[in-house]
Amino acid sequence: MTLSAKMSLLGTETAFDVLSRAAALAAQGRDIINLGIGQPDFPTPAPIVEAGVQALKDGHHGYTAPNGIPELRDAVAEDIQNRRHVAVKPGQIMIMPGGKPTMSFAIEMFGEAGAEILYPNPGFPIYESMIRYSGATPVPIPLLEESGFSFDANHVLSLINEKTRLIILNSPANPTGGVIAKAELEKLVTGLERWPDVYVLSDEIYSRMVYDGEEHMSLLSFEKLRDRLIILDGWSKTYAMTGWRLGWGLWPEHLIPEITKLCVNYHSCVNASAQYAGIAALKMDQGPVDEMMSAFDERRKLIHERLNALDGIRCAYPKGAFYAFANITGTGRSSREIQEFLLEQEGIATISGTSFGVFGEGFVRFSYANSTDNISAAMDRLEKALPAFIQS
Ligand code: PLP
Repeated sequence: MTLSAKMSLLGTETAFDVLSRAAALAAQGRDIINLGIGQPDFPTPAPIVEAGVQALKDGHHGYTAPNGIPELRDAVAEDIQNRRHVAVKPGQIMIMPGGKPTMSFAIEMFGEAGAEILYPNPGFPIYESMIRYSGATPVPIPLLEESGFSFDANHVLSLINEKTRLIILNSPANPTGGVIAKAELEKLVTGLERWPDVYVLSDEIYSRMVYDGEEHMSLLSFEKLRDRLIILDGWSKTYAMTGWRLGWGLWPEHLIPEITKLCVNYHSCVNASAQYAGIAALKMDQGPVDEMMSAFDERRKLIHERLNALDGIRCAYPKGAFYAFANITGTGRSSREIQEFLLEQEGIATISGTSFGVFGEGFVRFSYANSTDNISAAMDRLEKALPAFIQS
C-alpha cells in the first residue's frame, strides 16, 4: 500500500484520544472525571431538539443547497446584525457541518508549498495540522501567559512577508481561555493595511462565551478588513450542539464560488434537520444559553481558585470559553507527565498543553465544562495526590 506523502503531515486532536481512553477506563469500572474534552455537559435546549425532530417528521430528508437552507442563512445574517452590529448578505453565509470545516477549507484554499500561514500557538491543534497538510509552512504566533495569552501585534506584523497568505486568530481562545486585547487587534488591523493580499480567518466559535460583562470583539468590527476576512462560528458550544455538526462561515463575496466548490466536493450539504434545529436555536428565547453561561461562570471561578491553591500550579484568570490553562512548571514535571499521571493514577482527564503546540509546554488544559461537584472532586484528588508527584 502506498499512501500519499501528505497523509503523514496530518496531525490530530488529542482531546479525542483522551476522551476514548477516559471512556475505556470508565468501562473498566474506574471513576473518571472528564475535564478533557471541550464540550458543554448540558443537553441541547428542548426547543432546538423539538425543531430537529419536527423537521424529520415534516419530511426534510433530502439534500439541501450546499450553502444551506435560505431561512437558516437569513437567521444567521440577522444574528450577526444583532450581535456584531454589522449588516452582511445571507449570500455570504456558508452553513457547514460544524465549525471545523470552515478552518480546514480556508487553510486548504490558501495553503500550498511555498506559502506561509500564521496561527496561534498554543492554539486549536487542527490549525497546525491542516497547514502542514496543505503543504504551507506554519508560522506560530506565540500566545504567552505574561500577556494574558493575547499577542503582541508588532511581533505578528514582523512575521508577515511576501509568502504570507493567511493569518488565523482565535478569541476567546482554546486552550488558554484568553481574549485578544482590543488595542493589539487595532494595531494589527492598521498594520495589515501594508499587506493587502493577506487574508484573515477569525475563529469566533466562543464568541458568546465571554465573562464579567465584557463584550466579544469580532474582527468584523473592522470595516477595512471585511473584504479579506473569514469568520468561523457555529452552534456547537453556545447551544450545546457539538454532536449535531452545525456551524457557519462568513466569507467575502468573491470567495463564495471557491468555498462552494470545496463544500460540493467534500460533503454536498449539511444534514437538513440539523439546519432547521439551527434556526430554532437562533430564534428561541436565549434564556437556556444565559443559564449555561452563568453555570460556566460559577465553575470558572471555582476551578481558578482551586488550581491556584495547589502547590506547583498557578493559573491565569480565564476570560472566555470554558478552559483554564494552568502553568504546571512548579511541579518539575512536563505537561505530558502531568496529563498521564492525572488520567492513569487519579482518574482525571485533562489535556497536555503540548497538544496545542510547542508553546503549550509547561501548561495543562482543564475544561470546566463539568459540574461544580465533579470539579471539586477532581481538585480534592489533585490536592491529595500532587505533592507526592512533584519533583524538586
Ligand atoms: N475552533 C475552536 C477554537 C475550537 O475549540 C473548536 C472545538 O473545540 C472548533 C473550532 C470546532 O468546533 P466544531 O465542533 O463546531 O467543529
